[in-house]
Amino acid sequence: MDVTIEQSCPSCGASIVLSEDDRLIACAFCGVHNYRIAGAGSRYMLPAEDEGKQLIYVPYLRFKGSIFYVRDKEVQHKIVDTTRLGLESTLFPASLGLRPQAMRIRPVVSATPGRFFLQSIPSNTVFAQAAMVIDLFQERGDRHTYHQAFIGETLSRIYQPCYMQDEQLHDAVTRRMVGHGARLDTALKTCSSKVAWEPRFITTLCPGCGGLLDGERDSMVLQCTNCQSLWQEQQQKFVPVPWQVMASEDRRARYLPFWRISFSAPGSGLQSFGDYLRFTNQPLAALEKYDRQPLAFWIPAFKINPKAFLQLAGQLTVAQGRIPEGQNRPVSNGYPVTLEQAEAVQALVTVLAYTTLSKEKRFPLLPKLSLENCRAALTYLPFVGQTHDLVQEHTRAALQTAALRYGRVL
Ligand SMILES: [Zn+2]
Ligand SMILES: [Zn+2]
Repeated sequence: MDVTIEQSCPSCGASIVLSEDDRLIACAFCGVHNYRIAGAGSRYMLPAEDEGKQLIYVPYLRFKGSIFYVRDKEVQHKIVDTTRLGLESTLFPASLGLRPQAMRIRPVVSATPGRFFLQSIPSNTVFAQAAMVIDLFQERGDRHTYHQAFIGETLSRIYQPCYMQDEQLHDAVTRRMVGHGARLDTALKTCSSKVAWEPRFITTLCPGCGGLLDGERDSMVLQCTNCQSLWQEQQQKFVPVPWQVMASEDRRARYLPFWRISFSAPGSGLQSFGDYLRFTNQPLAALEKYDRQPLAFWIPAFKINPKAFLQLAGQLTVAQGRIPEGQNRPVSNGYPVTLEQAEAVQALVTVLAYTTLSKEKRFPLLPKLSLENCRAALTYLPFVGQTHDLVQEHTRAALQTAALRYGRVL
């Protein structure tokens, strides 16, 4: 479920309401567009009923995304959407439950008064606990997990405000008592808010020509229609994205973006598409030309449910021999990129496992596999609507139209 954020415009200070996945934000008052950098560092707080109190903030970690397990003889997946307490304390609930969805949260800024508990459990540990809690498959001693990946993640912190009154700790959202203050571990440290915690924005001017970059609210790749270029944010700067479009004769075609990722995997023997077909034991004629075709994985550059994500990545990766070379031409009727390149790279081993037919033989090799020098190019493939599906012209890979719509609010 999505979280609503109340943010002040970085240009004029007016209040803007946005969703947690929004990147390109337009201010209705001053008209300025800014790109919001919302990474692992984002910090928000639930609104306190009474701001006159001396508040103390309790950190919760928020995870939203898909988790994939390569386990036994199958690839399993599920959606994670949860908050978990980042403190070693029995005083506070383990999760915020539905609270963050039920109210507008606000970014923590350096001027936010009050004290903030320092997270006392490492994020990895908190995530491992969260994944265990929602693990429907239950870890059993006789099962073996070869690989796991977390993709499409939102990783942020949401602070729950509290205050002390008559030695009792109170929840500042509901004013209800949480417990006796003496139960607070004295080893827990606090600090005040920091400038580094503030939300960050960059201007949406094209670094190439100075034109205005364009995109949809949740686009992670912005387009300059003036000099025909694509850009993604890396380390608070826009960097160019190489791209290709496979043109279609069909005027109704909708162009969906994919990260086409090539890599080197030393010692694995996985270099060409032919190597891949042999590794995965695909029932495809091992044509000689496939041994000359470099291997790439085709990963959807948009959020969809984990099942459709694997199916689509699998179908296109297996059928890559049928996809022609594209052209570097303007993207029109393109679907926005809502899954960033770094996330797509996390999916490679899972897609390899998913498309492997000889699972018992190959899965034990996966933990030793290291993929290096990953290079990604954005590739737009034409899809045409047929009843309830969108079908890719060259490969017949299909995606339910509803999955695309649902992925937007995932
Ligand atoms: Zn403004
Ligand atoms: Zn430009």
